[in-house]
Amino acid sequence: MAVYLSTALRQRLVEIDDHRCAYCHTSQGNSGNPMVVDHLLPRSKGGATTFENLCFACYRCNLFKSSQVEAIDPLSGETVPLFHPRRNRWGDHFAWNEAGLRILGLTPIGRATVTALNMNNVVIIDARRNWVRLGWRPIAD
Ligand SMILES: [Zn+2]
Repeated sequence: MAVYLSTALRQRLVEIDDHRCAYCHTSQGNSGNPMVVDHLLPRSKGGATTFENLCFACYRCNLFKSSQVEAIDPLSGETVPLFHPRRNRWGDHFAWNEAGLRILGLTPIGRATVTALNMNNVVIIDARRNWVRLGWRPIAD
């Protein structure tokens, strides 16, 4: 569903997320699609359209996240919160594998988010392989 954002609010998101997905770091330029606005706490659960509750996400991460706010850590089997781009630092929870193709979950939050958002699906791995071939290097902060 389309979200109306004021110019000032959209500009704050652009400045902090730099037109890339706050989850998988796919840039708008690499995806070829505009970022969508993700409500960290979904509107269906009372989430507000405020800076603290919004991030840019690629279409795919937003689709897989859906209305989830927590997911299962595949290592421990425990239910943990999903990565929260406004409260958590990406590099504390994720890293890139050596080839720059796969996102590794470093913590329960990281592992649960990688799995729940399908952040290493075959389509994005294929795209990352092409970007790496062209000299793209993933951003890990
Ligand atoms: Zn993404």
